[in-house]
Amino acid sequence: MATETIFTKIINGTIPSNILYHDDLVTAFADIAPKAPHHILIVTNKPIPSVAEVESCDEQMLGHLFIVARKIATDLGVNESGYRLIVNVGADGGQEVPHIHMHLLAGGKLGGLGFPKQD
Ligand code: AMP
Repeated sequence: MATETIFTKIINGTIPSNILYHDDLVTAFADIAPKAPHHILIVTNKPIPSVAEVESCDEQMLGHLFIVARKIATDLGVNESGYRLIVNVGADGGQEVPHIHMHLLAGGKLGGLGFPKQD
C-alpha cells in the first residue's frame, strides 16, 4: 500500500495550501516554490508514487490530469498563449515528492528543457 505523502496531507486539508481545484480524482494547488509566474501542481488523489507504478486501471484518472490542466490554464488566461506541463519520474527525472503530480508552468516565455548546463 502506498504511504501517505505531503501531498496527501494537502489533499486532506491536514496542512494548508492554496487549493485551486478539487474533485474525486485530482487536486490542484500552488507550488510552494514557484518556478514561473504561475506554477500549479495537479495531483492524483490516489497516492501512486510515480509513473513507474501506474496501472491500466489508473488510465481515466491520469487522462483527467490533462482535462484539469486545460481548465486551470483557461482560468489563468493562458490556454491560448501557452504553458508547460511536466511530470518528473524518479531520481534521474528530478522527482522529489513520491506522489504522481503534473506541474503547470505559465505566465511568460519559458526556457529550454534538458540536461543542466555543464561547467
Ligand atoms: P517534483 O520535483 O516533480 O517531485 O516536484 C515537487 C514539487 O512539490 C516541487 O516543485 C516543490 O516546490 C513542491 N512542494 C513541496 N512541498 C510543497 C507544499 N507543501 N506545498 C506546495 N508545493 C510543495
